[in-house]
Amino acid sequence: MQAAIQEAQKAAVIREVPIGAVVVLDGEIIGRGHNLRETNQQSTAHAEMIAIQEACAKVGSWRLERAQLFVTLEPCPMCSGAIMLSRVEEVYFGAYDPKGGTAGSLLNLLEDQRFNHWSYVEAGILGEPCGQLLTDFFRELRQIKKEQKKLKKTSQDE
Ligand SMILES: [Zn+2]
Repeated sequence: MQAAIQEAQKAAVIREVPIGAVVVLDGEIIGRGHNLRETNQQSTAHAEMIAIQEACAKVGSWRLERAQLFVTLEPCPMCSGAIMLSRVEEVYFGAYDPKGGTAGSLLNLLEDQRFNHWSYVEAGILGEPCGQLLTDFFRELRQIKKEQKKLKKTSQDE
């Protein structure tokens, strides 16, 4: 999860919402990703998607059957779908996402045994630092917006 946090920090540096993910196989990281939605202007450029794509390329297979995925925020429906379709065995996530998470918050797609494949899921792994990254990011963003507003107002007053 530390490696996933490092990925999230890379996103924060480039003003992306700080979410990071890694895929691990046999104790080795085979895929890394961080959120690149703004940079790429792609709604699908989530950390998990990028990490899974890299992992599949590395092993030369769409099947990640014995792999673990670590992600700093609870996966959304799209990423849960990708996790399911690539048959990731275990998913560990940091912070819950009460507004978009489908690994326990809104739904539990990953452990729904009506699907052909389901994963073992563990939540709250380093949940505090994972969540804090997001809290800090959004606080800073609000601060920047506030200052921009102030600047705009003073330039209008002149
Ligand atoms: Zn996602």
